[in-house]
Amino acid sequence: MPPDKTQAELQKFKLAVENASDHIIITDENAVIVYANKAAEKVTGFSRSEIIGQKAGTKSLWGGLMPKEFYVKMWETLKTKKRAFTGELQNRRKNGEIYTALASISPIMDEKGNVRFFVGIERDITKEKEVDRAKTEFVSMASHQLRTPLTTINWYIEMLLSGDVGKVTPEQARYLQEVYNGSQRMVRLVNDLLNVSRLETGKLLVEPVPTDLEKFVESAVAESSLAGRESGVKVVFKPLAGSLGKIPLDPELLQQVLRNLIGNAQRYTPSNKDGVVAVTIDKSRDGEIVISIKDNGIGIPKEDQPLIFERFYRASNAQELAAGGTGLGLYISKLIVESWGGKIWFESQEGGGTTFYVTIPSKGMKRQMGEKKLA
Ligand code: ADP
Repeated sequence: MPPDKTQAELQKFKLAVENASDHIIITDENAVIVYANKAAEKVTGFSRSEIIGQKAGTKSLWGGLMPKEFYVKMWETLKTKKRAFTGELQNRRKNGEIYTALASISPIMDEKGNVRFFVGIERDITKEKEVDRAKTEFVSMASHQLRTPLTTINWYIEMLLSGDVGKVTPEQARYLQEVYNGSQRMVRLVNDLLNVSRLETGKLLVEPVPTDLEKFVESAVAESSLAGRESGVKVVFKPLAGSLGKIPLDPELLQQVLRNLIGNAQRYTPSNKDGVVAVTIDKSRDGEIVISIKDNGIGIPKEDQPLIFERFYRASNAQELAAGGTGLGLYISKLIVESWGGKIWFESQEGGGTTFYVTIPSKGMKRQMGEKKLA
């Protein structure tokens, strides 16, 4: 394409985006800004005469606030891979105010595949972020406040059920048990909500200590087996052939994830069936530790599978079998596993059972400094 044709096309593009509400700039192949639309002036506070001719990302304009690695990765994607880059970044307006922008930058190439321009589109998402944070904080406070009265309710039901304050008839005991089950479910929901807000507002503290993984999983299996014994679903443990010795693990986090996954496997296996949950420890080809939790329960329908790690998502067959779930367990588990440097996924067939897999890096969990602990 001759340069004048490219220029003409660029002119058309400028006309089209001049009044867009997002901040849009065009740079040449060296990242020198050749065009900025009206919104760019409005969002950043710099006038076009101050913007044009400067390098995009320079500290004398709105940029340069992110860690060096961010820009390295960005330019690698744009210049080397010649692909579009999307990311959230902090910028500074002319008046000094910091704002959050969602940026999408694309290289525009000529027919020979050489980059001619970069087009950067940024949306100021500062307000959205603030609203989101306020919402999460509200959920966190509300769930925290709910814990105290719930503890009182549980305490008194337990007292009544134990017969300490007088004999209860079998019928009264049955009703009390229902009230107790309901309030226990509420405790779980409140704790899950609290954990979600903690995980979403800050970094989770991962504190690994040398632990015997096999013994740990074995006792988690024994605990779940006991807790779910009324369901009639058996839980069995198959340790690794060779010993792993002690490796760095955060016991609380691992416990939470195992409890969620084994609990789900039991819950989503009908009790009138020969239900078995098998928990196995293995090593992958590249040395990662893989814990699998396999059940022969209801399975996850294909159409629900892509959404299963989303907040509050529950498949329809699960809602029929167990009305009381929160849909938060897997979301929380995924955030925890990723914090320790692992992965989580599953294989499932509707009616044919489900296997969840969780990995731990070969040398154990990665330590992560963070301010958040689980409820
Ligand atoms: P909850 O179990 O409280 O609904 P989770 O986040 O733990 O929430 O699970 C989300 C959904 O994933 C469940 O509602 C269910 O549809 C599906 N699911 C999770 N584990 C299993 C399993 N082992 N077998 C079948 N479905 C499962």
